Amino acid sequence: MLYILFLTTRCNSNCRYCGGFDEDLMPCKIQYELEDLKEFLRKDQKTSIAFYGGEPLLESERMKEIMDMISAKHYILQTNGLLLHEIEDRYLKKFSTILVSLDGREEVHNFYRGNYEVVLRNVRRIRDYKGEIIARMTASQETDIYEDVMSLLSLNTFTHVHWQIDAVWSRENTWRNFEKWVEEYNKKIRRLVKFWVSEMLKKRIHGIVPFLGVATAIFKRFKNFPCSSGFESFAITTEGRILACPVCPEFDWNHLGNIKDGINKRIDISDPCPNCRYFSFCGGRCLFFNKERLWGDKGFKLVCSTVKNLVDSILRYRGILERFKDEIRYPKFLNTTEIIP
Ligand code: SF4
Ligand code: SF4
Repeated sequence: MLYILFLTTRCNSNCRYCGGFDEDLMPCKIQYELEDLKEFLRKDQKTSIAFYGGEPLLESERMKEIMDMISAKHYILQTNGLLLHEIEDRYLKKFSTILVSLDGREEVHNFYRGNYEVVLRNVRRIRDYKGEIIARMTASQETDIYEDVMSLLSLNTFTHVHWQIDAVWSRENTWRNFEKWVEEYNKKIRRLVKFWVSEMLKKRIHGIVPFLGVATAIFKRFKNFPCSSGFESFAITTEGRILACPVCPEFDWNHLGNIKDGINKRIDISDPCPNCRYFSFCGGRCLFFNKERLWGDKGFKLVCSTVKNLVDSILRYRGILERFKDEIRYPKFLNTTEIIP
């Protein structure tokens, strides 16, 4: 199981598409006893722990305390990269996956986050780190998915690139014309898949997470959300509540228990996903998206059109992908990448 621990709700960045954490959602620091967390996780022999926030490295002492106290098969970190270089080597080498927020081309990243140079410099300062290092993009109005992914690949700094479309819970005024953006995005995805496959034929397999994940589903179909929220992945809030998905602590359907009493509720996947013909390649995309129709039916269908286009673009090369079955299998363990953008 993967447990995503909120270390703090605070953040040392101020990104355009993020409103920060509403103070009512949970306390800003861990309130529970780490002994209680240890006892809760003791029942699971294959624990993976992901540190999450806010910016988790603002609570790096707490993070190290947990790493010293609770052994996990995999440690994972989702960070904005601003304090990355401060992690001591003996902790750094314990991580299997580090995801760093980086939005692609410098101008796009700086439009939304404003710290491209600092983040890239910090990532390059941990060159001795041997685990996965994933550039995690938020794909939004200014994103050209082909150009931004190519830019990240050209840095030769990351093992993988992943992205999530800033859809459904995005901030007001983020989008000028989502429908038009989707049209372009779908075109660029087809182009990027073509490039990815042509490179594969030259024995260069680029770690483009959504492509690897969907191609893997050719051999091992999804039975639930690819992020596995509520199935094999759970988030633990700063006061010890257990959530299915970390992004929406405010919704009742997302509350599954607490670390003292354990998990006492199950998640189901709502219509139309279980009966959709793309389900085995999409898994319902995202629990939050499946449960809440914040953009109505039209918005839901538009986002689905990006999934369908991605799947169709990959399946077009099924014959080739079958030849690279072992090399493309991803992820090897749950690492908080959602697979479907
Ligand atoms: S494509 Fe859309 S409707 Fe189909 S399974 Fe995915 S999210 Fe559900
Ligand atoms: S994909 Fe959706 S359900 Fe999964 S972690 Fe992300 S927001 Fe939560």
